[in-house]
Amino acid sequence: MEGEVVIIGAGLIGLALARELAHRGAAVRVVDTGEPGRQASWAAAGMLAPSSEGLDGAFYDLCAASLARYPAFAAALHEETDLDIHLRREGFITPAYDDRGVAKLEAEVADARARGFGASMLTSVDTLRLEPSLAPVAASAHFEHEASVDNRRLGRALRAAVEHLGVRLDEGLPWVRLAATQRRVNGVETANGFIPAPVVINAAGAWAGTLEGVPERARVPVEPVKGQILALGMPANLIRHTIYAEHAYLVPRDDGRLIVGATVERAGFDTRVTAAGIHRLLDGALRVAPALRDLAVVETWAGLRPGTPDGLPYLGAGSIEGYFLATGHLRNGVLLTPITAEVVADTVEGRAPRVDVAAFSPERVHPTSKAAP
Ligand SMILES: Cc1cc2nc3c(=O)[nH]c(=O)nc-3n(C[C@H](O)[C@H](O)[C@H](O)COP(=O)(O)OP(=O)(O)OC[C@H]3O[C@@H](n4cnc5c(N)ncnc54)[C@H](O)[C@@H]3O)c2cc1C
Repeated sequence: MEGEVVIIGAGLIGLALARELAHRGAAVRVVDTGEPGRQASWAAAGMLAPSSEGLDGAFYDLCAASLARYPAFAAALHEETDLDIHLRREGFITPAYDDRGVAKLEAEVADARARGFGASMLTSVDTLRLEPSLAPVAASAHFEHEASVDNRRLGRALRAAVEHLGVRLDEGLPWVRLAATQRRVNGVETANGFIPAPVVINAAGAWAGTLEGVPERARVPVEPVKGQILALGMPANLIRHTIYAEHAYLVPRDDGRLIVGATVERAGFDTRVTAAGIHRLLDGALRVAPALRDLAVVETWAGLRPGTPDGLPYLGAGSIEGYFLATGHLRNGVLLTPITAEVVADTVEGRAPRVDVAAFSPERVHPTSKAAP
C-alpha cells in the first residue's frame, strides 16, 4: 500500500486494526486525543457472548466468527508481547426463574446447538452444583462456547504489540480532525501538525460521529450509550462461570475481581457513576447471588459504548475515497475486535473479506451519496 494509513482512535478497535495492518506490511500511525485503551475498551466487562447477547442474522454470524478467532488471537498476542489477556472459556450460565424464562432459554439453547455450539439446559440441582453461590433457579442454560477476556489487559497487549511493530502512536493530542475534500481524504490535522495520508480510518468509538472535518456526505450517526459497572473483591472461585442474568451479569476475573454490569443509558457524554446506577447493579447482582452481599465493592466506573441507529457497526469504506470506518460496536466491541481488524484491513487493501460484511457498510447511511465519477 502506498503511503501511511492513519487510524483515529486507539481503543481496542483502532489498536487491533493498527496491529493487523502493520502485520500485513502497511505503514501505520495512530492518533488519539486521550490515553490509548482507556475509554469504552477499558470500561467493558470483556464478555464474548453472541448467544447470551440475543443477537441474530448477519450480526450473530459476525460475532460468532470473531469468537472463533479469539483463541488464536490471544495466543498470538501472548507470543508477540508476553502478555496474557486471560481468555476464560468456562462458558456462560443463564438462569431462569419461571416457566416463561425456561421456555425462552430452551429456544436459545436449541438455536445455539443448531449453529453447532455446545449448549445445554441444566436442572436447578445441576446449576447449583456448578455455581453454589447462586439463588435457587427453575433451570439454567449453559452456553459452553461463550468466553470472556480481561479487556484492560487486552488493551495493554495490543498497545505493546503495535509498538513492537513500529506503529507510531500519538496520544493525548488536544485535537484531531480529518482533512478531506468532498471526494477524498488528504490526511489528518492535529494539534501537532498535518499528517498527510491517502487512507484514514475513523475508529473513534462513541466520538466517531462528531469527528471534525468529515464532509456531510460521509458522516455517520454514532450515539454514546453509557454503561455503569462495578467490581467486587471475590474469594477464589466463588463464581467460576459468567452468570448472564436479566438484571445483571457477573463476570469472574483471574485477578480475583467479580465484574457486575452494566447499565444501558442514553445520557450524552456523561460518565458519572450515580447512586441509582450502582443501586440497580447491586440489587440485580444480589438477586442472582445473595452470597455476594458481604463482598467489598472495590471499584466503580462508567464508559461510553458507540451506538448506531440500527444497532449494527460501521465496518469498511465510507462515502469518500480513502475514508474508512471501524466503529459503532455498541455492546460487543471487545468480542468484535479480532474480526473487525481482519475485515476492515481487507477492505482497506481492496480485498473481499472472508465473512459477509455487506450489512455493516457505512454507506448504508448515505445510499445515494457516491460522488459521480
Ligand atoms: C460498561 C460497558 C460494558 C461493556 N461490556 C462489553 C462486553 O462485555 N463485551 C463486549 O464485547 N463489549 C462490551 N462493551 C462495549 C465495548 O467496550 C465497546 O464496543 C468497544 O470498547 C469499543 O471500542 P472502540 O475502540 O471503538 O472505542 P473506545 O475504546 O471508546 O476508543 C475510542 C478511542 O477514540 C479516541 N478518540 C475519540 N475522539 C477522538 C478524536 N477526535 N481524535 C482522536 N481520537 C479520538 C478516544 O480517546 C478513545 O481512545 C462494554 C462497554 C461498556 C461501556
